[in-house]
Amino acid sequence: MTEPIVLPEFDNFGDQAISGLEAPEEATAASQSVLREARNSGRPRIDDPGDNQLTLERGICREGTWYRNAEVRELTGADEEAIAAAGVGSSAYRVFETLLLRATVHVGGEPMSPKVAAELLIGDREALVVAIRRASFGENLEFERLPCPRCGELVDLTVPLAALPSVTLDEPERVNFEVALRHGAMATVRLPTGEDQEAVFAIKNNKAKQDSEILGRCVLSVTQPDGTEVRKPPAQTLRMADRQTILGFLGETQPGPRLADFSFTHETCGEEVALPINLAMLFRGL
Ligand SMILES: [Zn+2]
Repeated sequence: MTEPIVLPEFDNFGDQAISGLEAPEEATAASQSVLREARNSGRPRIDDPGDNQLTLERGICREGTWYRNAEVRELTGADEEAIAAAGVGSSAYRVFETLLLRATVHVGGEPMSPKVAAELLIGDREALVVAIRRASFGENLEFERLPCPRCGELVDLTVPLAALPSVTLDEPERVNFEVALRHGAMATVRLPTGEDQEAVFAIKNNKAKQDSEILGRCVLSVTQPDGTEVRKPPAQTLRMADRQTILGFLGETQPGPRLADFSFTHETCGEEVALPINLAMLFRGL
């Protein structure tokens, strides 16, 4: 048998949680264990307000108001068949999209639809898929006999979904962001949504073109130090360094789970082991 695994600082992980102060009715519904954990964090936060309920970082906007509450449901055999059909000869992206559309009940009270899915930030879409996994298979990801890449020992590991790293927005309702570019220029950008993701997915095997697609969509304007502003500049006209700066900003700022960034400390050898979590791990091989 293997030694127990030390997981990284749990107290830092309530990132997808919501503030009880901001949503008192949901805070009331919180479970005792969740509240107990919340005492350790700076702000009163709760996670998982109801069984299949969650609070998104950004949500959807209707007539000037943002709606962040959402509900998912457990996957059924019919979903499994639909997802398998989407997966045959297809991509993880199609499987993801099928999961999201089928098992999200509503966002902000509006039934899930391709339109709603397209509006959501990529990070909100990922938070929904993690919630669907929780509703379907529970909180813990179990790994058995995982070879430690550092020492070779086989590790049995339990990873609670709540332990996966995640990013929050400082100002969830802020739509535009400024990014400093070279030579004193400033870009105004927005964060990519499902619609942008879909457009990128349509471009095959050309990373530069995919980058241009995202930049063409998400860079709203570039302002030079002398005040001249170019609205929606073609991505090809941006400097290469500026393109990378903006893409880096969009990647870092996007809220939501960072499944690929998960790592744990293997107690036997004391080493930090990267364990990127993918869709197949979340859904047991779907
Ligand atoms: Zn090890």
